[in-house]
Amino acid sequence: HSSNGSSDDLTFPLEIPPAKIRFTKLFIGGEFVDSVSGKTFETIDPRTGEAIASVSEGDKEDIDLAVGAARRAFDHGPWPRLPGAARAKIMHKFADLIDQHIEELATLDTLNAGKLFSWGKAVDIPSVANTLRYFAGAADKIHGQVLKMSRELHAYTLLEPIGVVGLIIPWNFPSTMFFVKVSPALAAGCTMVVKPAEQTPLSALFYAHLAKEAGIPDGVINVVNGFGPTAGAALTSHMNVDKVSFTGSTEVGRKVMQAAAASNLKTVSLELGGKSPLLIFDDADIDQAADLALLGVMHNKGEVCVAGSRVLVQEAIYDEFVKTLVEKAKEWVVGDPFHPNSRVGPQVDKKQYEKVMSYIEHGKREGATLLTGGKPAAKKGYYIEPTVFTDVTDDMMIVKDEIFGPVMVLMKFKTMEDGIRAANNTRYGLAAGIVTKSLDTANTVSRSIRAGVIWINCYFAFDNDCPFGGYKSSGFGRDEGMVGLQKYLQVKSVVTPLYNSPW
Ligand code: NAD
Repeated sequence: HSSNGSSDDLTFPLEIPPAKIRFTKLFIGGEFVDSVSGKTFETIDPRTGEAIASVSEGDKEDIDLAVGAARRAFDHGPWPRLPGAARAKIMHKFADLIDQHIEELATLDTLNAGKLFSWGKAVDIPSVANTLRYFAGAADKIHGQVLKMSRELHAYTLLEPIGVVGLIIPWNFPSTMFFVKVSPALAAGCTMVVKPAEQTPLSALFYAHLAKEAGIPDGVINVVNGFGPTAGAALTSHMNVDKVSFTGSTEVGRKVMQAAAASNLKTVSLELGGKSPLLIFDDADIDQAADLALLGVMHNKGEVCVAGSRVLVQEAIYDEFVKTLVEKAKEWVVGDPFHPNSRVGPQVDKKQYEKVMSYIEHGKREGATLLTGGKPAAKKGYYIEPTVFTDVTDDMMIVKDEIFGPVMVLMKFKTMEDGIRAANNTRYGLAAGIVTKSLDTANTVSRSIRAGVIWINCYFAFDNDCPFGGYKSSGFGRDEGMVGLQKYLQVKSVVTPLYNSPW
């Protein structure tokens, strides 16, 4: 056995009953259809690198058809005009249908993204049903304000659905990302075109089918599988799309904004990458801190935008922390994501696998010390050992760039001020963690870090009511929470004279 608990003779992949892939086409105007070009692409199982299914490949023409269907559903269909309570009722039905298919949906995300099946079944899929329910609860509470005008005028604001929205999502949480965007858009009364990541189209198509079964009118949710530069770009530059909500890399986020600016000035919200710090102070419980540090970067094999990939440890406990961390890293067993004992599955695809491995090689070449891991964890599939680097400097690529894999960089700091400075020394600002017993430290640090989410003595503590998004190059706009609904709404002011006086 290697140091992190993986073994050279892992029998990858574990035999599982072949999942029946039911939906592989595009979903436009309430029907599953082939792409206009008739083209398809293969979707891959990262456990083996082999194809699971061929799915229809959408391009500009298909985006055009999908936007057309969404436009008709918005301009003439019932969805935006329904009372909020009626939309909520259908959303609840949609959520109940998800509950009835948890195992099948979790299987699709494991097959497509290498995510842990046990986790998908217990956490990811049940929580997306709850995301729908959370926003369904808001659907009949969307209202404006009565305004105080300085003259004899009566004025109020109306909150209207923003219109046709383009939802572009990444592959690391195919189900979570789908519902974080679809649910508030539905509650607001929008119609939408979803472009799932090319790596993970399968669960999105299943959700489209369930939406129809729940009674969501045709054209309200359209799903177009395809690639970024073609289908994705067509959506962001479409003249008939009113808003794009994007989650993905900072690099592509820039392109999304440019396309919006160059087309119809659609509004944009961007949830982008991160290089989030976890600060561990010398009053911390070392065992708990090491567990949190590993969870922060190894969970979902490090393919998490808020991963705590920079771990900053205060001087006095640094040496002991390192010993504990290396010991505990062995608990992060690499293995088939369908196996109940596995904690680290394969990276999503060959490209990500090669990217993570090249960062690891870069770290070694730049002179960082490899504490554990650093190698592929199996002969087949895209498995990588949980990896920890130390003796790093601020200018190293492994410290600056988002790696998006199970790779931690470990650093030492002296005073609280040094820790804050190091934590903020990044172009990103998505999340940060603090481990301390001191209320003063927790309060001071949480207000000094420029990031959208701060976790004190915990990590990845999410809920639907907790807004989520970035500072700096991690983007702008918030998903989740009532603030997450705002971006799917327009504010209209309506003004009329109070008395029947000539104006
Ligand atoms: P990516 O930016 O390459 O792709 C994301 C989505 O954008 C995919 O659907 C892709 O097809 C599409 N896309 C690609 N090029 C496009 C273009 N030119 N126009 C329109 N759409 C295009 O990102 P990725 O590598 O798939 O995902 C990983 C990144 O996503 C990481 O940087 C990660 O931090 C980020 N992420 C952020 C959050 C968050 O909420 N902040 C959540 C998950 C992932």
